[in-house]
Amino acid sequence: MVARVSKQGITDTRVLSALQSIERHRFVDSALVNQAYEDTSLPIGLGQTISKPSVVARMTELLCHGVSGKLGRVLEIGTGCGYQAALLSLLASEVYSIERLRGLHEKARENLRHLRLANLHLLFGDGMLGYAKGAPYAAIIAAAGGDAVPQAWIDQLAIGGRLVAPVVKGSGSGAQQALLVIDKTPSGVRQSVLESVHFVPLKSGIA
Ligand code: SAH
Repeated sequence: MVARVSKQGITDTRVLSALQSIERHRFVDSALVNQAYEDTSLPIGLGQTISKPSVVARMTELLCHGVSGKLGRVLEIGTGCGYQAALLSLLASEVYSIERLRGLHEKARENLRHLRLANLHLLFGDGMLGYAKGAPYAAIIAAAGGDAVPQAWIDQLAIGGRLVAPVVKGSGSGAQQALLVIDKTPSGVRQSVLESVHFVPLKSGIA
């Protein structure tokens, strides 16, 4: 899996070594274990999915871009099964990961127990509000896509920080998601829209 991701153009050795360290098969149901190292998204229950390794690697590399050494505090919206959160905890000083579905929040806690990641904080709540107590963040990453990036995320991003999230572009049958990168600079925010992606929808409230 790591060799494939590296062939696809991921060069950041920190990201590749984090992918090497975290065993993806521990985050999927036993019936799917034999597919865990393929470049595919997989169901994790409650209608949600663990993202494709190539997309996880791409987003993580974008997040680390321009930072030498460890990232500072990171906020993740959409813990899901906890896989991306585990990778982030190897790359950042502190990670706050929020999930709105209690069932998945609990599943992630179980999946992550064996790793004993002291700098990873799993939170149950509506990530559309961000998590003000951990702000400002050096990086914010979302694994679910809405029509726009909530203002709370931009407010909670540190100056010099970077946000990577899928957003919906267009409307009706032409609606498509693309990766959005937002860099917060002293003079304002700079946005770049990158390639198309497919993520589950960003929803408000908890369930
Ligand atoms: N990074 C995850 C991907 C999970 S899929 C992993 O490695 O498994 C995206 C997740 O975002 C889903 O679990 C979904 O419930 C969650 N989500 C959607 N909207 C949310 C919100 N407003 N707050 C928190 N989590 C949200």
